[in-house]
Amino acid sequence: MKALEQKIKAEGVVCPGNVLKVGSFLNQQLDVDFLYMMGDEIASLFSGCGVTKVITIEASGIAIALPAAHALGVKAVFAKKCRTSNMSGDVYSARIHSFTHGNDYDAIVSKNYITEKDRVLIVDDFLAEGSALKGMISLVQQAGATVVGAAIAIEKAFQNGGDEVRAMGYRVESLARIASMTDSDLVFI
Ligand code: 5GP
Repeated sequence: MKALEQKIKAEGVVCPGNVLKVGSFLNQQLDVDFLYMMGDEIASLFSGCGVTKVITIEASGIAIALPAAHALGVKAVFAKKCRTSNMSGDVYSARIHSFTHGNDYDAIVSKNYITEKDRVLIVDDFLAEGSALKGMISLVQQAGATVVGAAIAIEKAFQNGGDEVRAMGYRVESLARIASMTDSDLVFI
């Protein structure tokens, strides 16, 4: 998505440790019109695939999952990073390694919100080493539902996650794929 590449070039900040900050439109301040354009793009990529639900992980995935679900006309579910008192009943759970924080956490979804009849599109803001994406695949599988594919806003293609999940046989579509990045240059595929 050319407009996203231009926005990343204009507003993205490359930080040490291969972290790209896009707080001006995706990760803290939300450029709502632009996010809804991204949602439309995701919906057009997966139209005709029978998606019944979108899943992401709190908090940073929600900003892109919401417009994608809106454009597809389905509900969005977000996995929580810790069990809260308002989560009753059984849950599906997957252990995920956080690329940005360096720790492990459990992503948890109530069994009420994904059923075996669902055809689920996984949506996230970034794809790096693939732990979050593999964790969400596991959550969908635990429910006996079908993974339709994954839609990612920004894939850092120089990291392994995208190649690994595609090699597992899943369709992964990224709106922007970064081949390399330094604080003075960003190259897209
Ligand atoms: P992975 O599990 O693929 O290694 O990392 C994906 C998750 O880590 C995403 O959900 C995202 O929140 C976070 N993440 C990974 N790389 C970056 C990055 O360069 N910038 C930001 N802002 N988040 C990232």
